Amino acid sequence: MAHPYHHAISSVREWGGNVSDYLALHSWFDQSKMIVADFRHRALRHHAEGIFMAETVFGTTLTLSSGRVIPVRWVGEQHVREDLGRIPSFADWARAIRPERWMGPVSRLDVEDQAPSAADAP
Ligand SMILES: [Zn+2]
Repeated sequence: MAHPYHHAISSVREWGGNVSDYLALHSWFDQSKMIVADFRHRALRHHAEGIFMAETVFGTTLTLSSGRVIPVRWVGEQHVREDLGRIPSFADWARAIRPERWMGPVSRLDVEDQAPSAADAP
């Protein structure tokens, strides 16, 4: 499964309605292709947290042109399963990131000349 349009056709087969009922939601999942043009783009939204994030963008339910109301998460789960065969967590993606030196802690700032202030309090 590659294009949001094809995901939308699959959604119509599953829950009815029209391709246009689903296209914005499936396109949102794949918008990360603007950042990374290969399958690694999926690390941004193709996981359990991404499916819940879709609810914050599209609402809890989707009202189809047929009048049927379905959970947005159903459509998100369908999209991720069709692309990956399962729903990973973000932690699954993070484990696949090869650590680089620049991702680690930065050197401490030289603050010896500065007295602590109230702004430094937690
Ligand atoms: Zn996708």
